[in-house]
Amino acid sequence: MFRDGKGTSRDLLGTVLTQAADGGLLLIGQDGRLWTIEPPQLDSRADQQSEFEPLRLDQQGLALKAELGERFEIVTTKHYVVATSAGKPYAAWCASLFERLYSAFQNYWKQRGMDLDEPEFPLIAIVLKNEREFATFATRDAGADAATAKGYYSVEHNRIVLYDLTATGNGPATTATEISRRLGANPFNIATVVHEATHQIAFNSGLHTRLADNPLWVTEGMAMFFETPDLTSRTGWRTVGQINDLRQKQFQEYLAKRRKPDSLSTLIASDARFTDAELAGDAYAEAWALTYYLAKSKKEAYAGYLRELSQKPRLVWDKPSDRVSQFQQALGNDLRTIDADFVRYMRKLK
Ligand SMILES: [Zn+2]
Repeated sequence: MFRDGKGTSRDLLGTVLTQAADGGLLLIGQDGRLWTIEPPQLDSRADQQSEFEPLRLDQQGLALKAELGERFEIVTTKHYVVATSAGKPYAAWCASLFERLYSAFQNYWKQRGMDLDEPEFPLIAIVLKNEREFATFATRDAGADAATAKGYYSVEHNRIVLYDLTATGNGPATTATEISRRLGANPFNIATVVHEATHQIAFNSGLHTRLADNPLWVTEGMAMFFETPDLTSRTGWRTVGQINDLRQKQFQEYLAKRRKPDSLSTLIASDARFTDAELAGDAYAEAWALTYYLAKSKKEAYAGYLRELSQKPRLVWDKPSDRVSQFQQALGNDLRTIDADFVRYMRKLK
């Protein structure tokens, strides 16, 4: 038994991932949610004899209905449990998109010598009826910033939350063709959904570890590398690693007007540029560009770097100098040479 951040008393069946010297715990529940519990929050704990088991898809569906309300419908596929207030057709369309992305992601890395894991937990998506319902839910679930997005992935909850982007005055779209047609009209919106789904897949296939020191340029670069949506195929996914037009345009502008000589080192040393509203746009664009460059022209070294990062312990936060030296170990000591090569490569793509 413990009291969560809001003071609510909770009885949780889970397994301890990390125990800090002061008695603080990092716990994972059967739904894959992570809980950090400080010693004063912990009222009691009892060891179970039985082995820890994640919820199955059907159990996870019931748990989501219990949490969200009976009006939510559940759609399940091989890896996903979608709880929705937007009607089953849209939820099924999303689940099918996610499954194709999932396969494309696994295949992409397999071809590069990285055998990723099957997810330990069902991958959860909550699809809300419209923007208004999403904003209310997101504010409570993840804070005011999330409310203005088109969707988000929560590392702690391990789920993605989004809403029906096809909802218009004409009512919901009911066929896959109509859904694709309406979404095709605004590819940027659906790219956000694919972006968040990529985060979830990357954190559930062993490529990243949740609550470990993952440089933001790596996780965001990865999501942007995969975010170009493929709405044309119902069976495959052909667009992995295409040039991301929006990010490329911004990166070229950044190169031409604002990029400083130490831009590569500030990007890899800390997340500061991503959390500064004025610098974030350029930081995202550069993270995409660096990921693109490494994935295309330094395949093995980049995969080796990702493999190193995936082994990092949870709740240990690196210093900027550690991040730089990890990057150098995998990709080369001389950052100025790497930078010059990177910039030359990206200029040629224009
Ligand atoms: Zn992201």
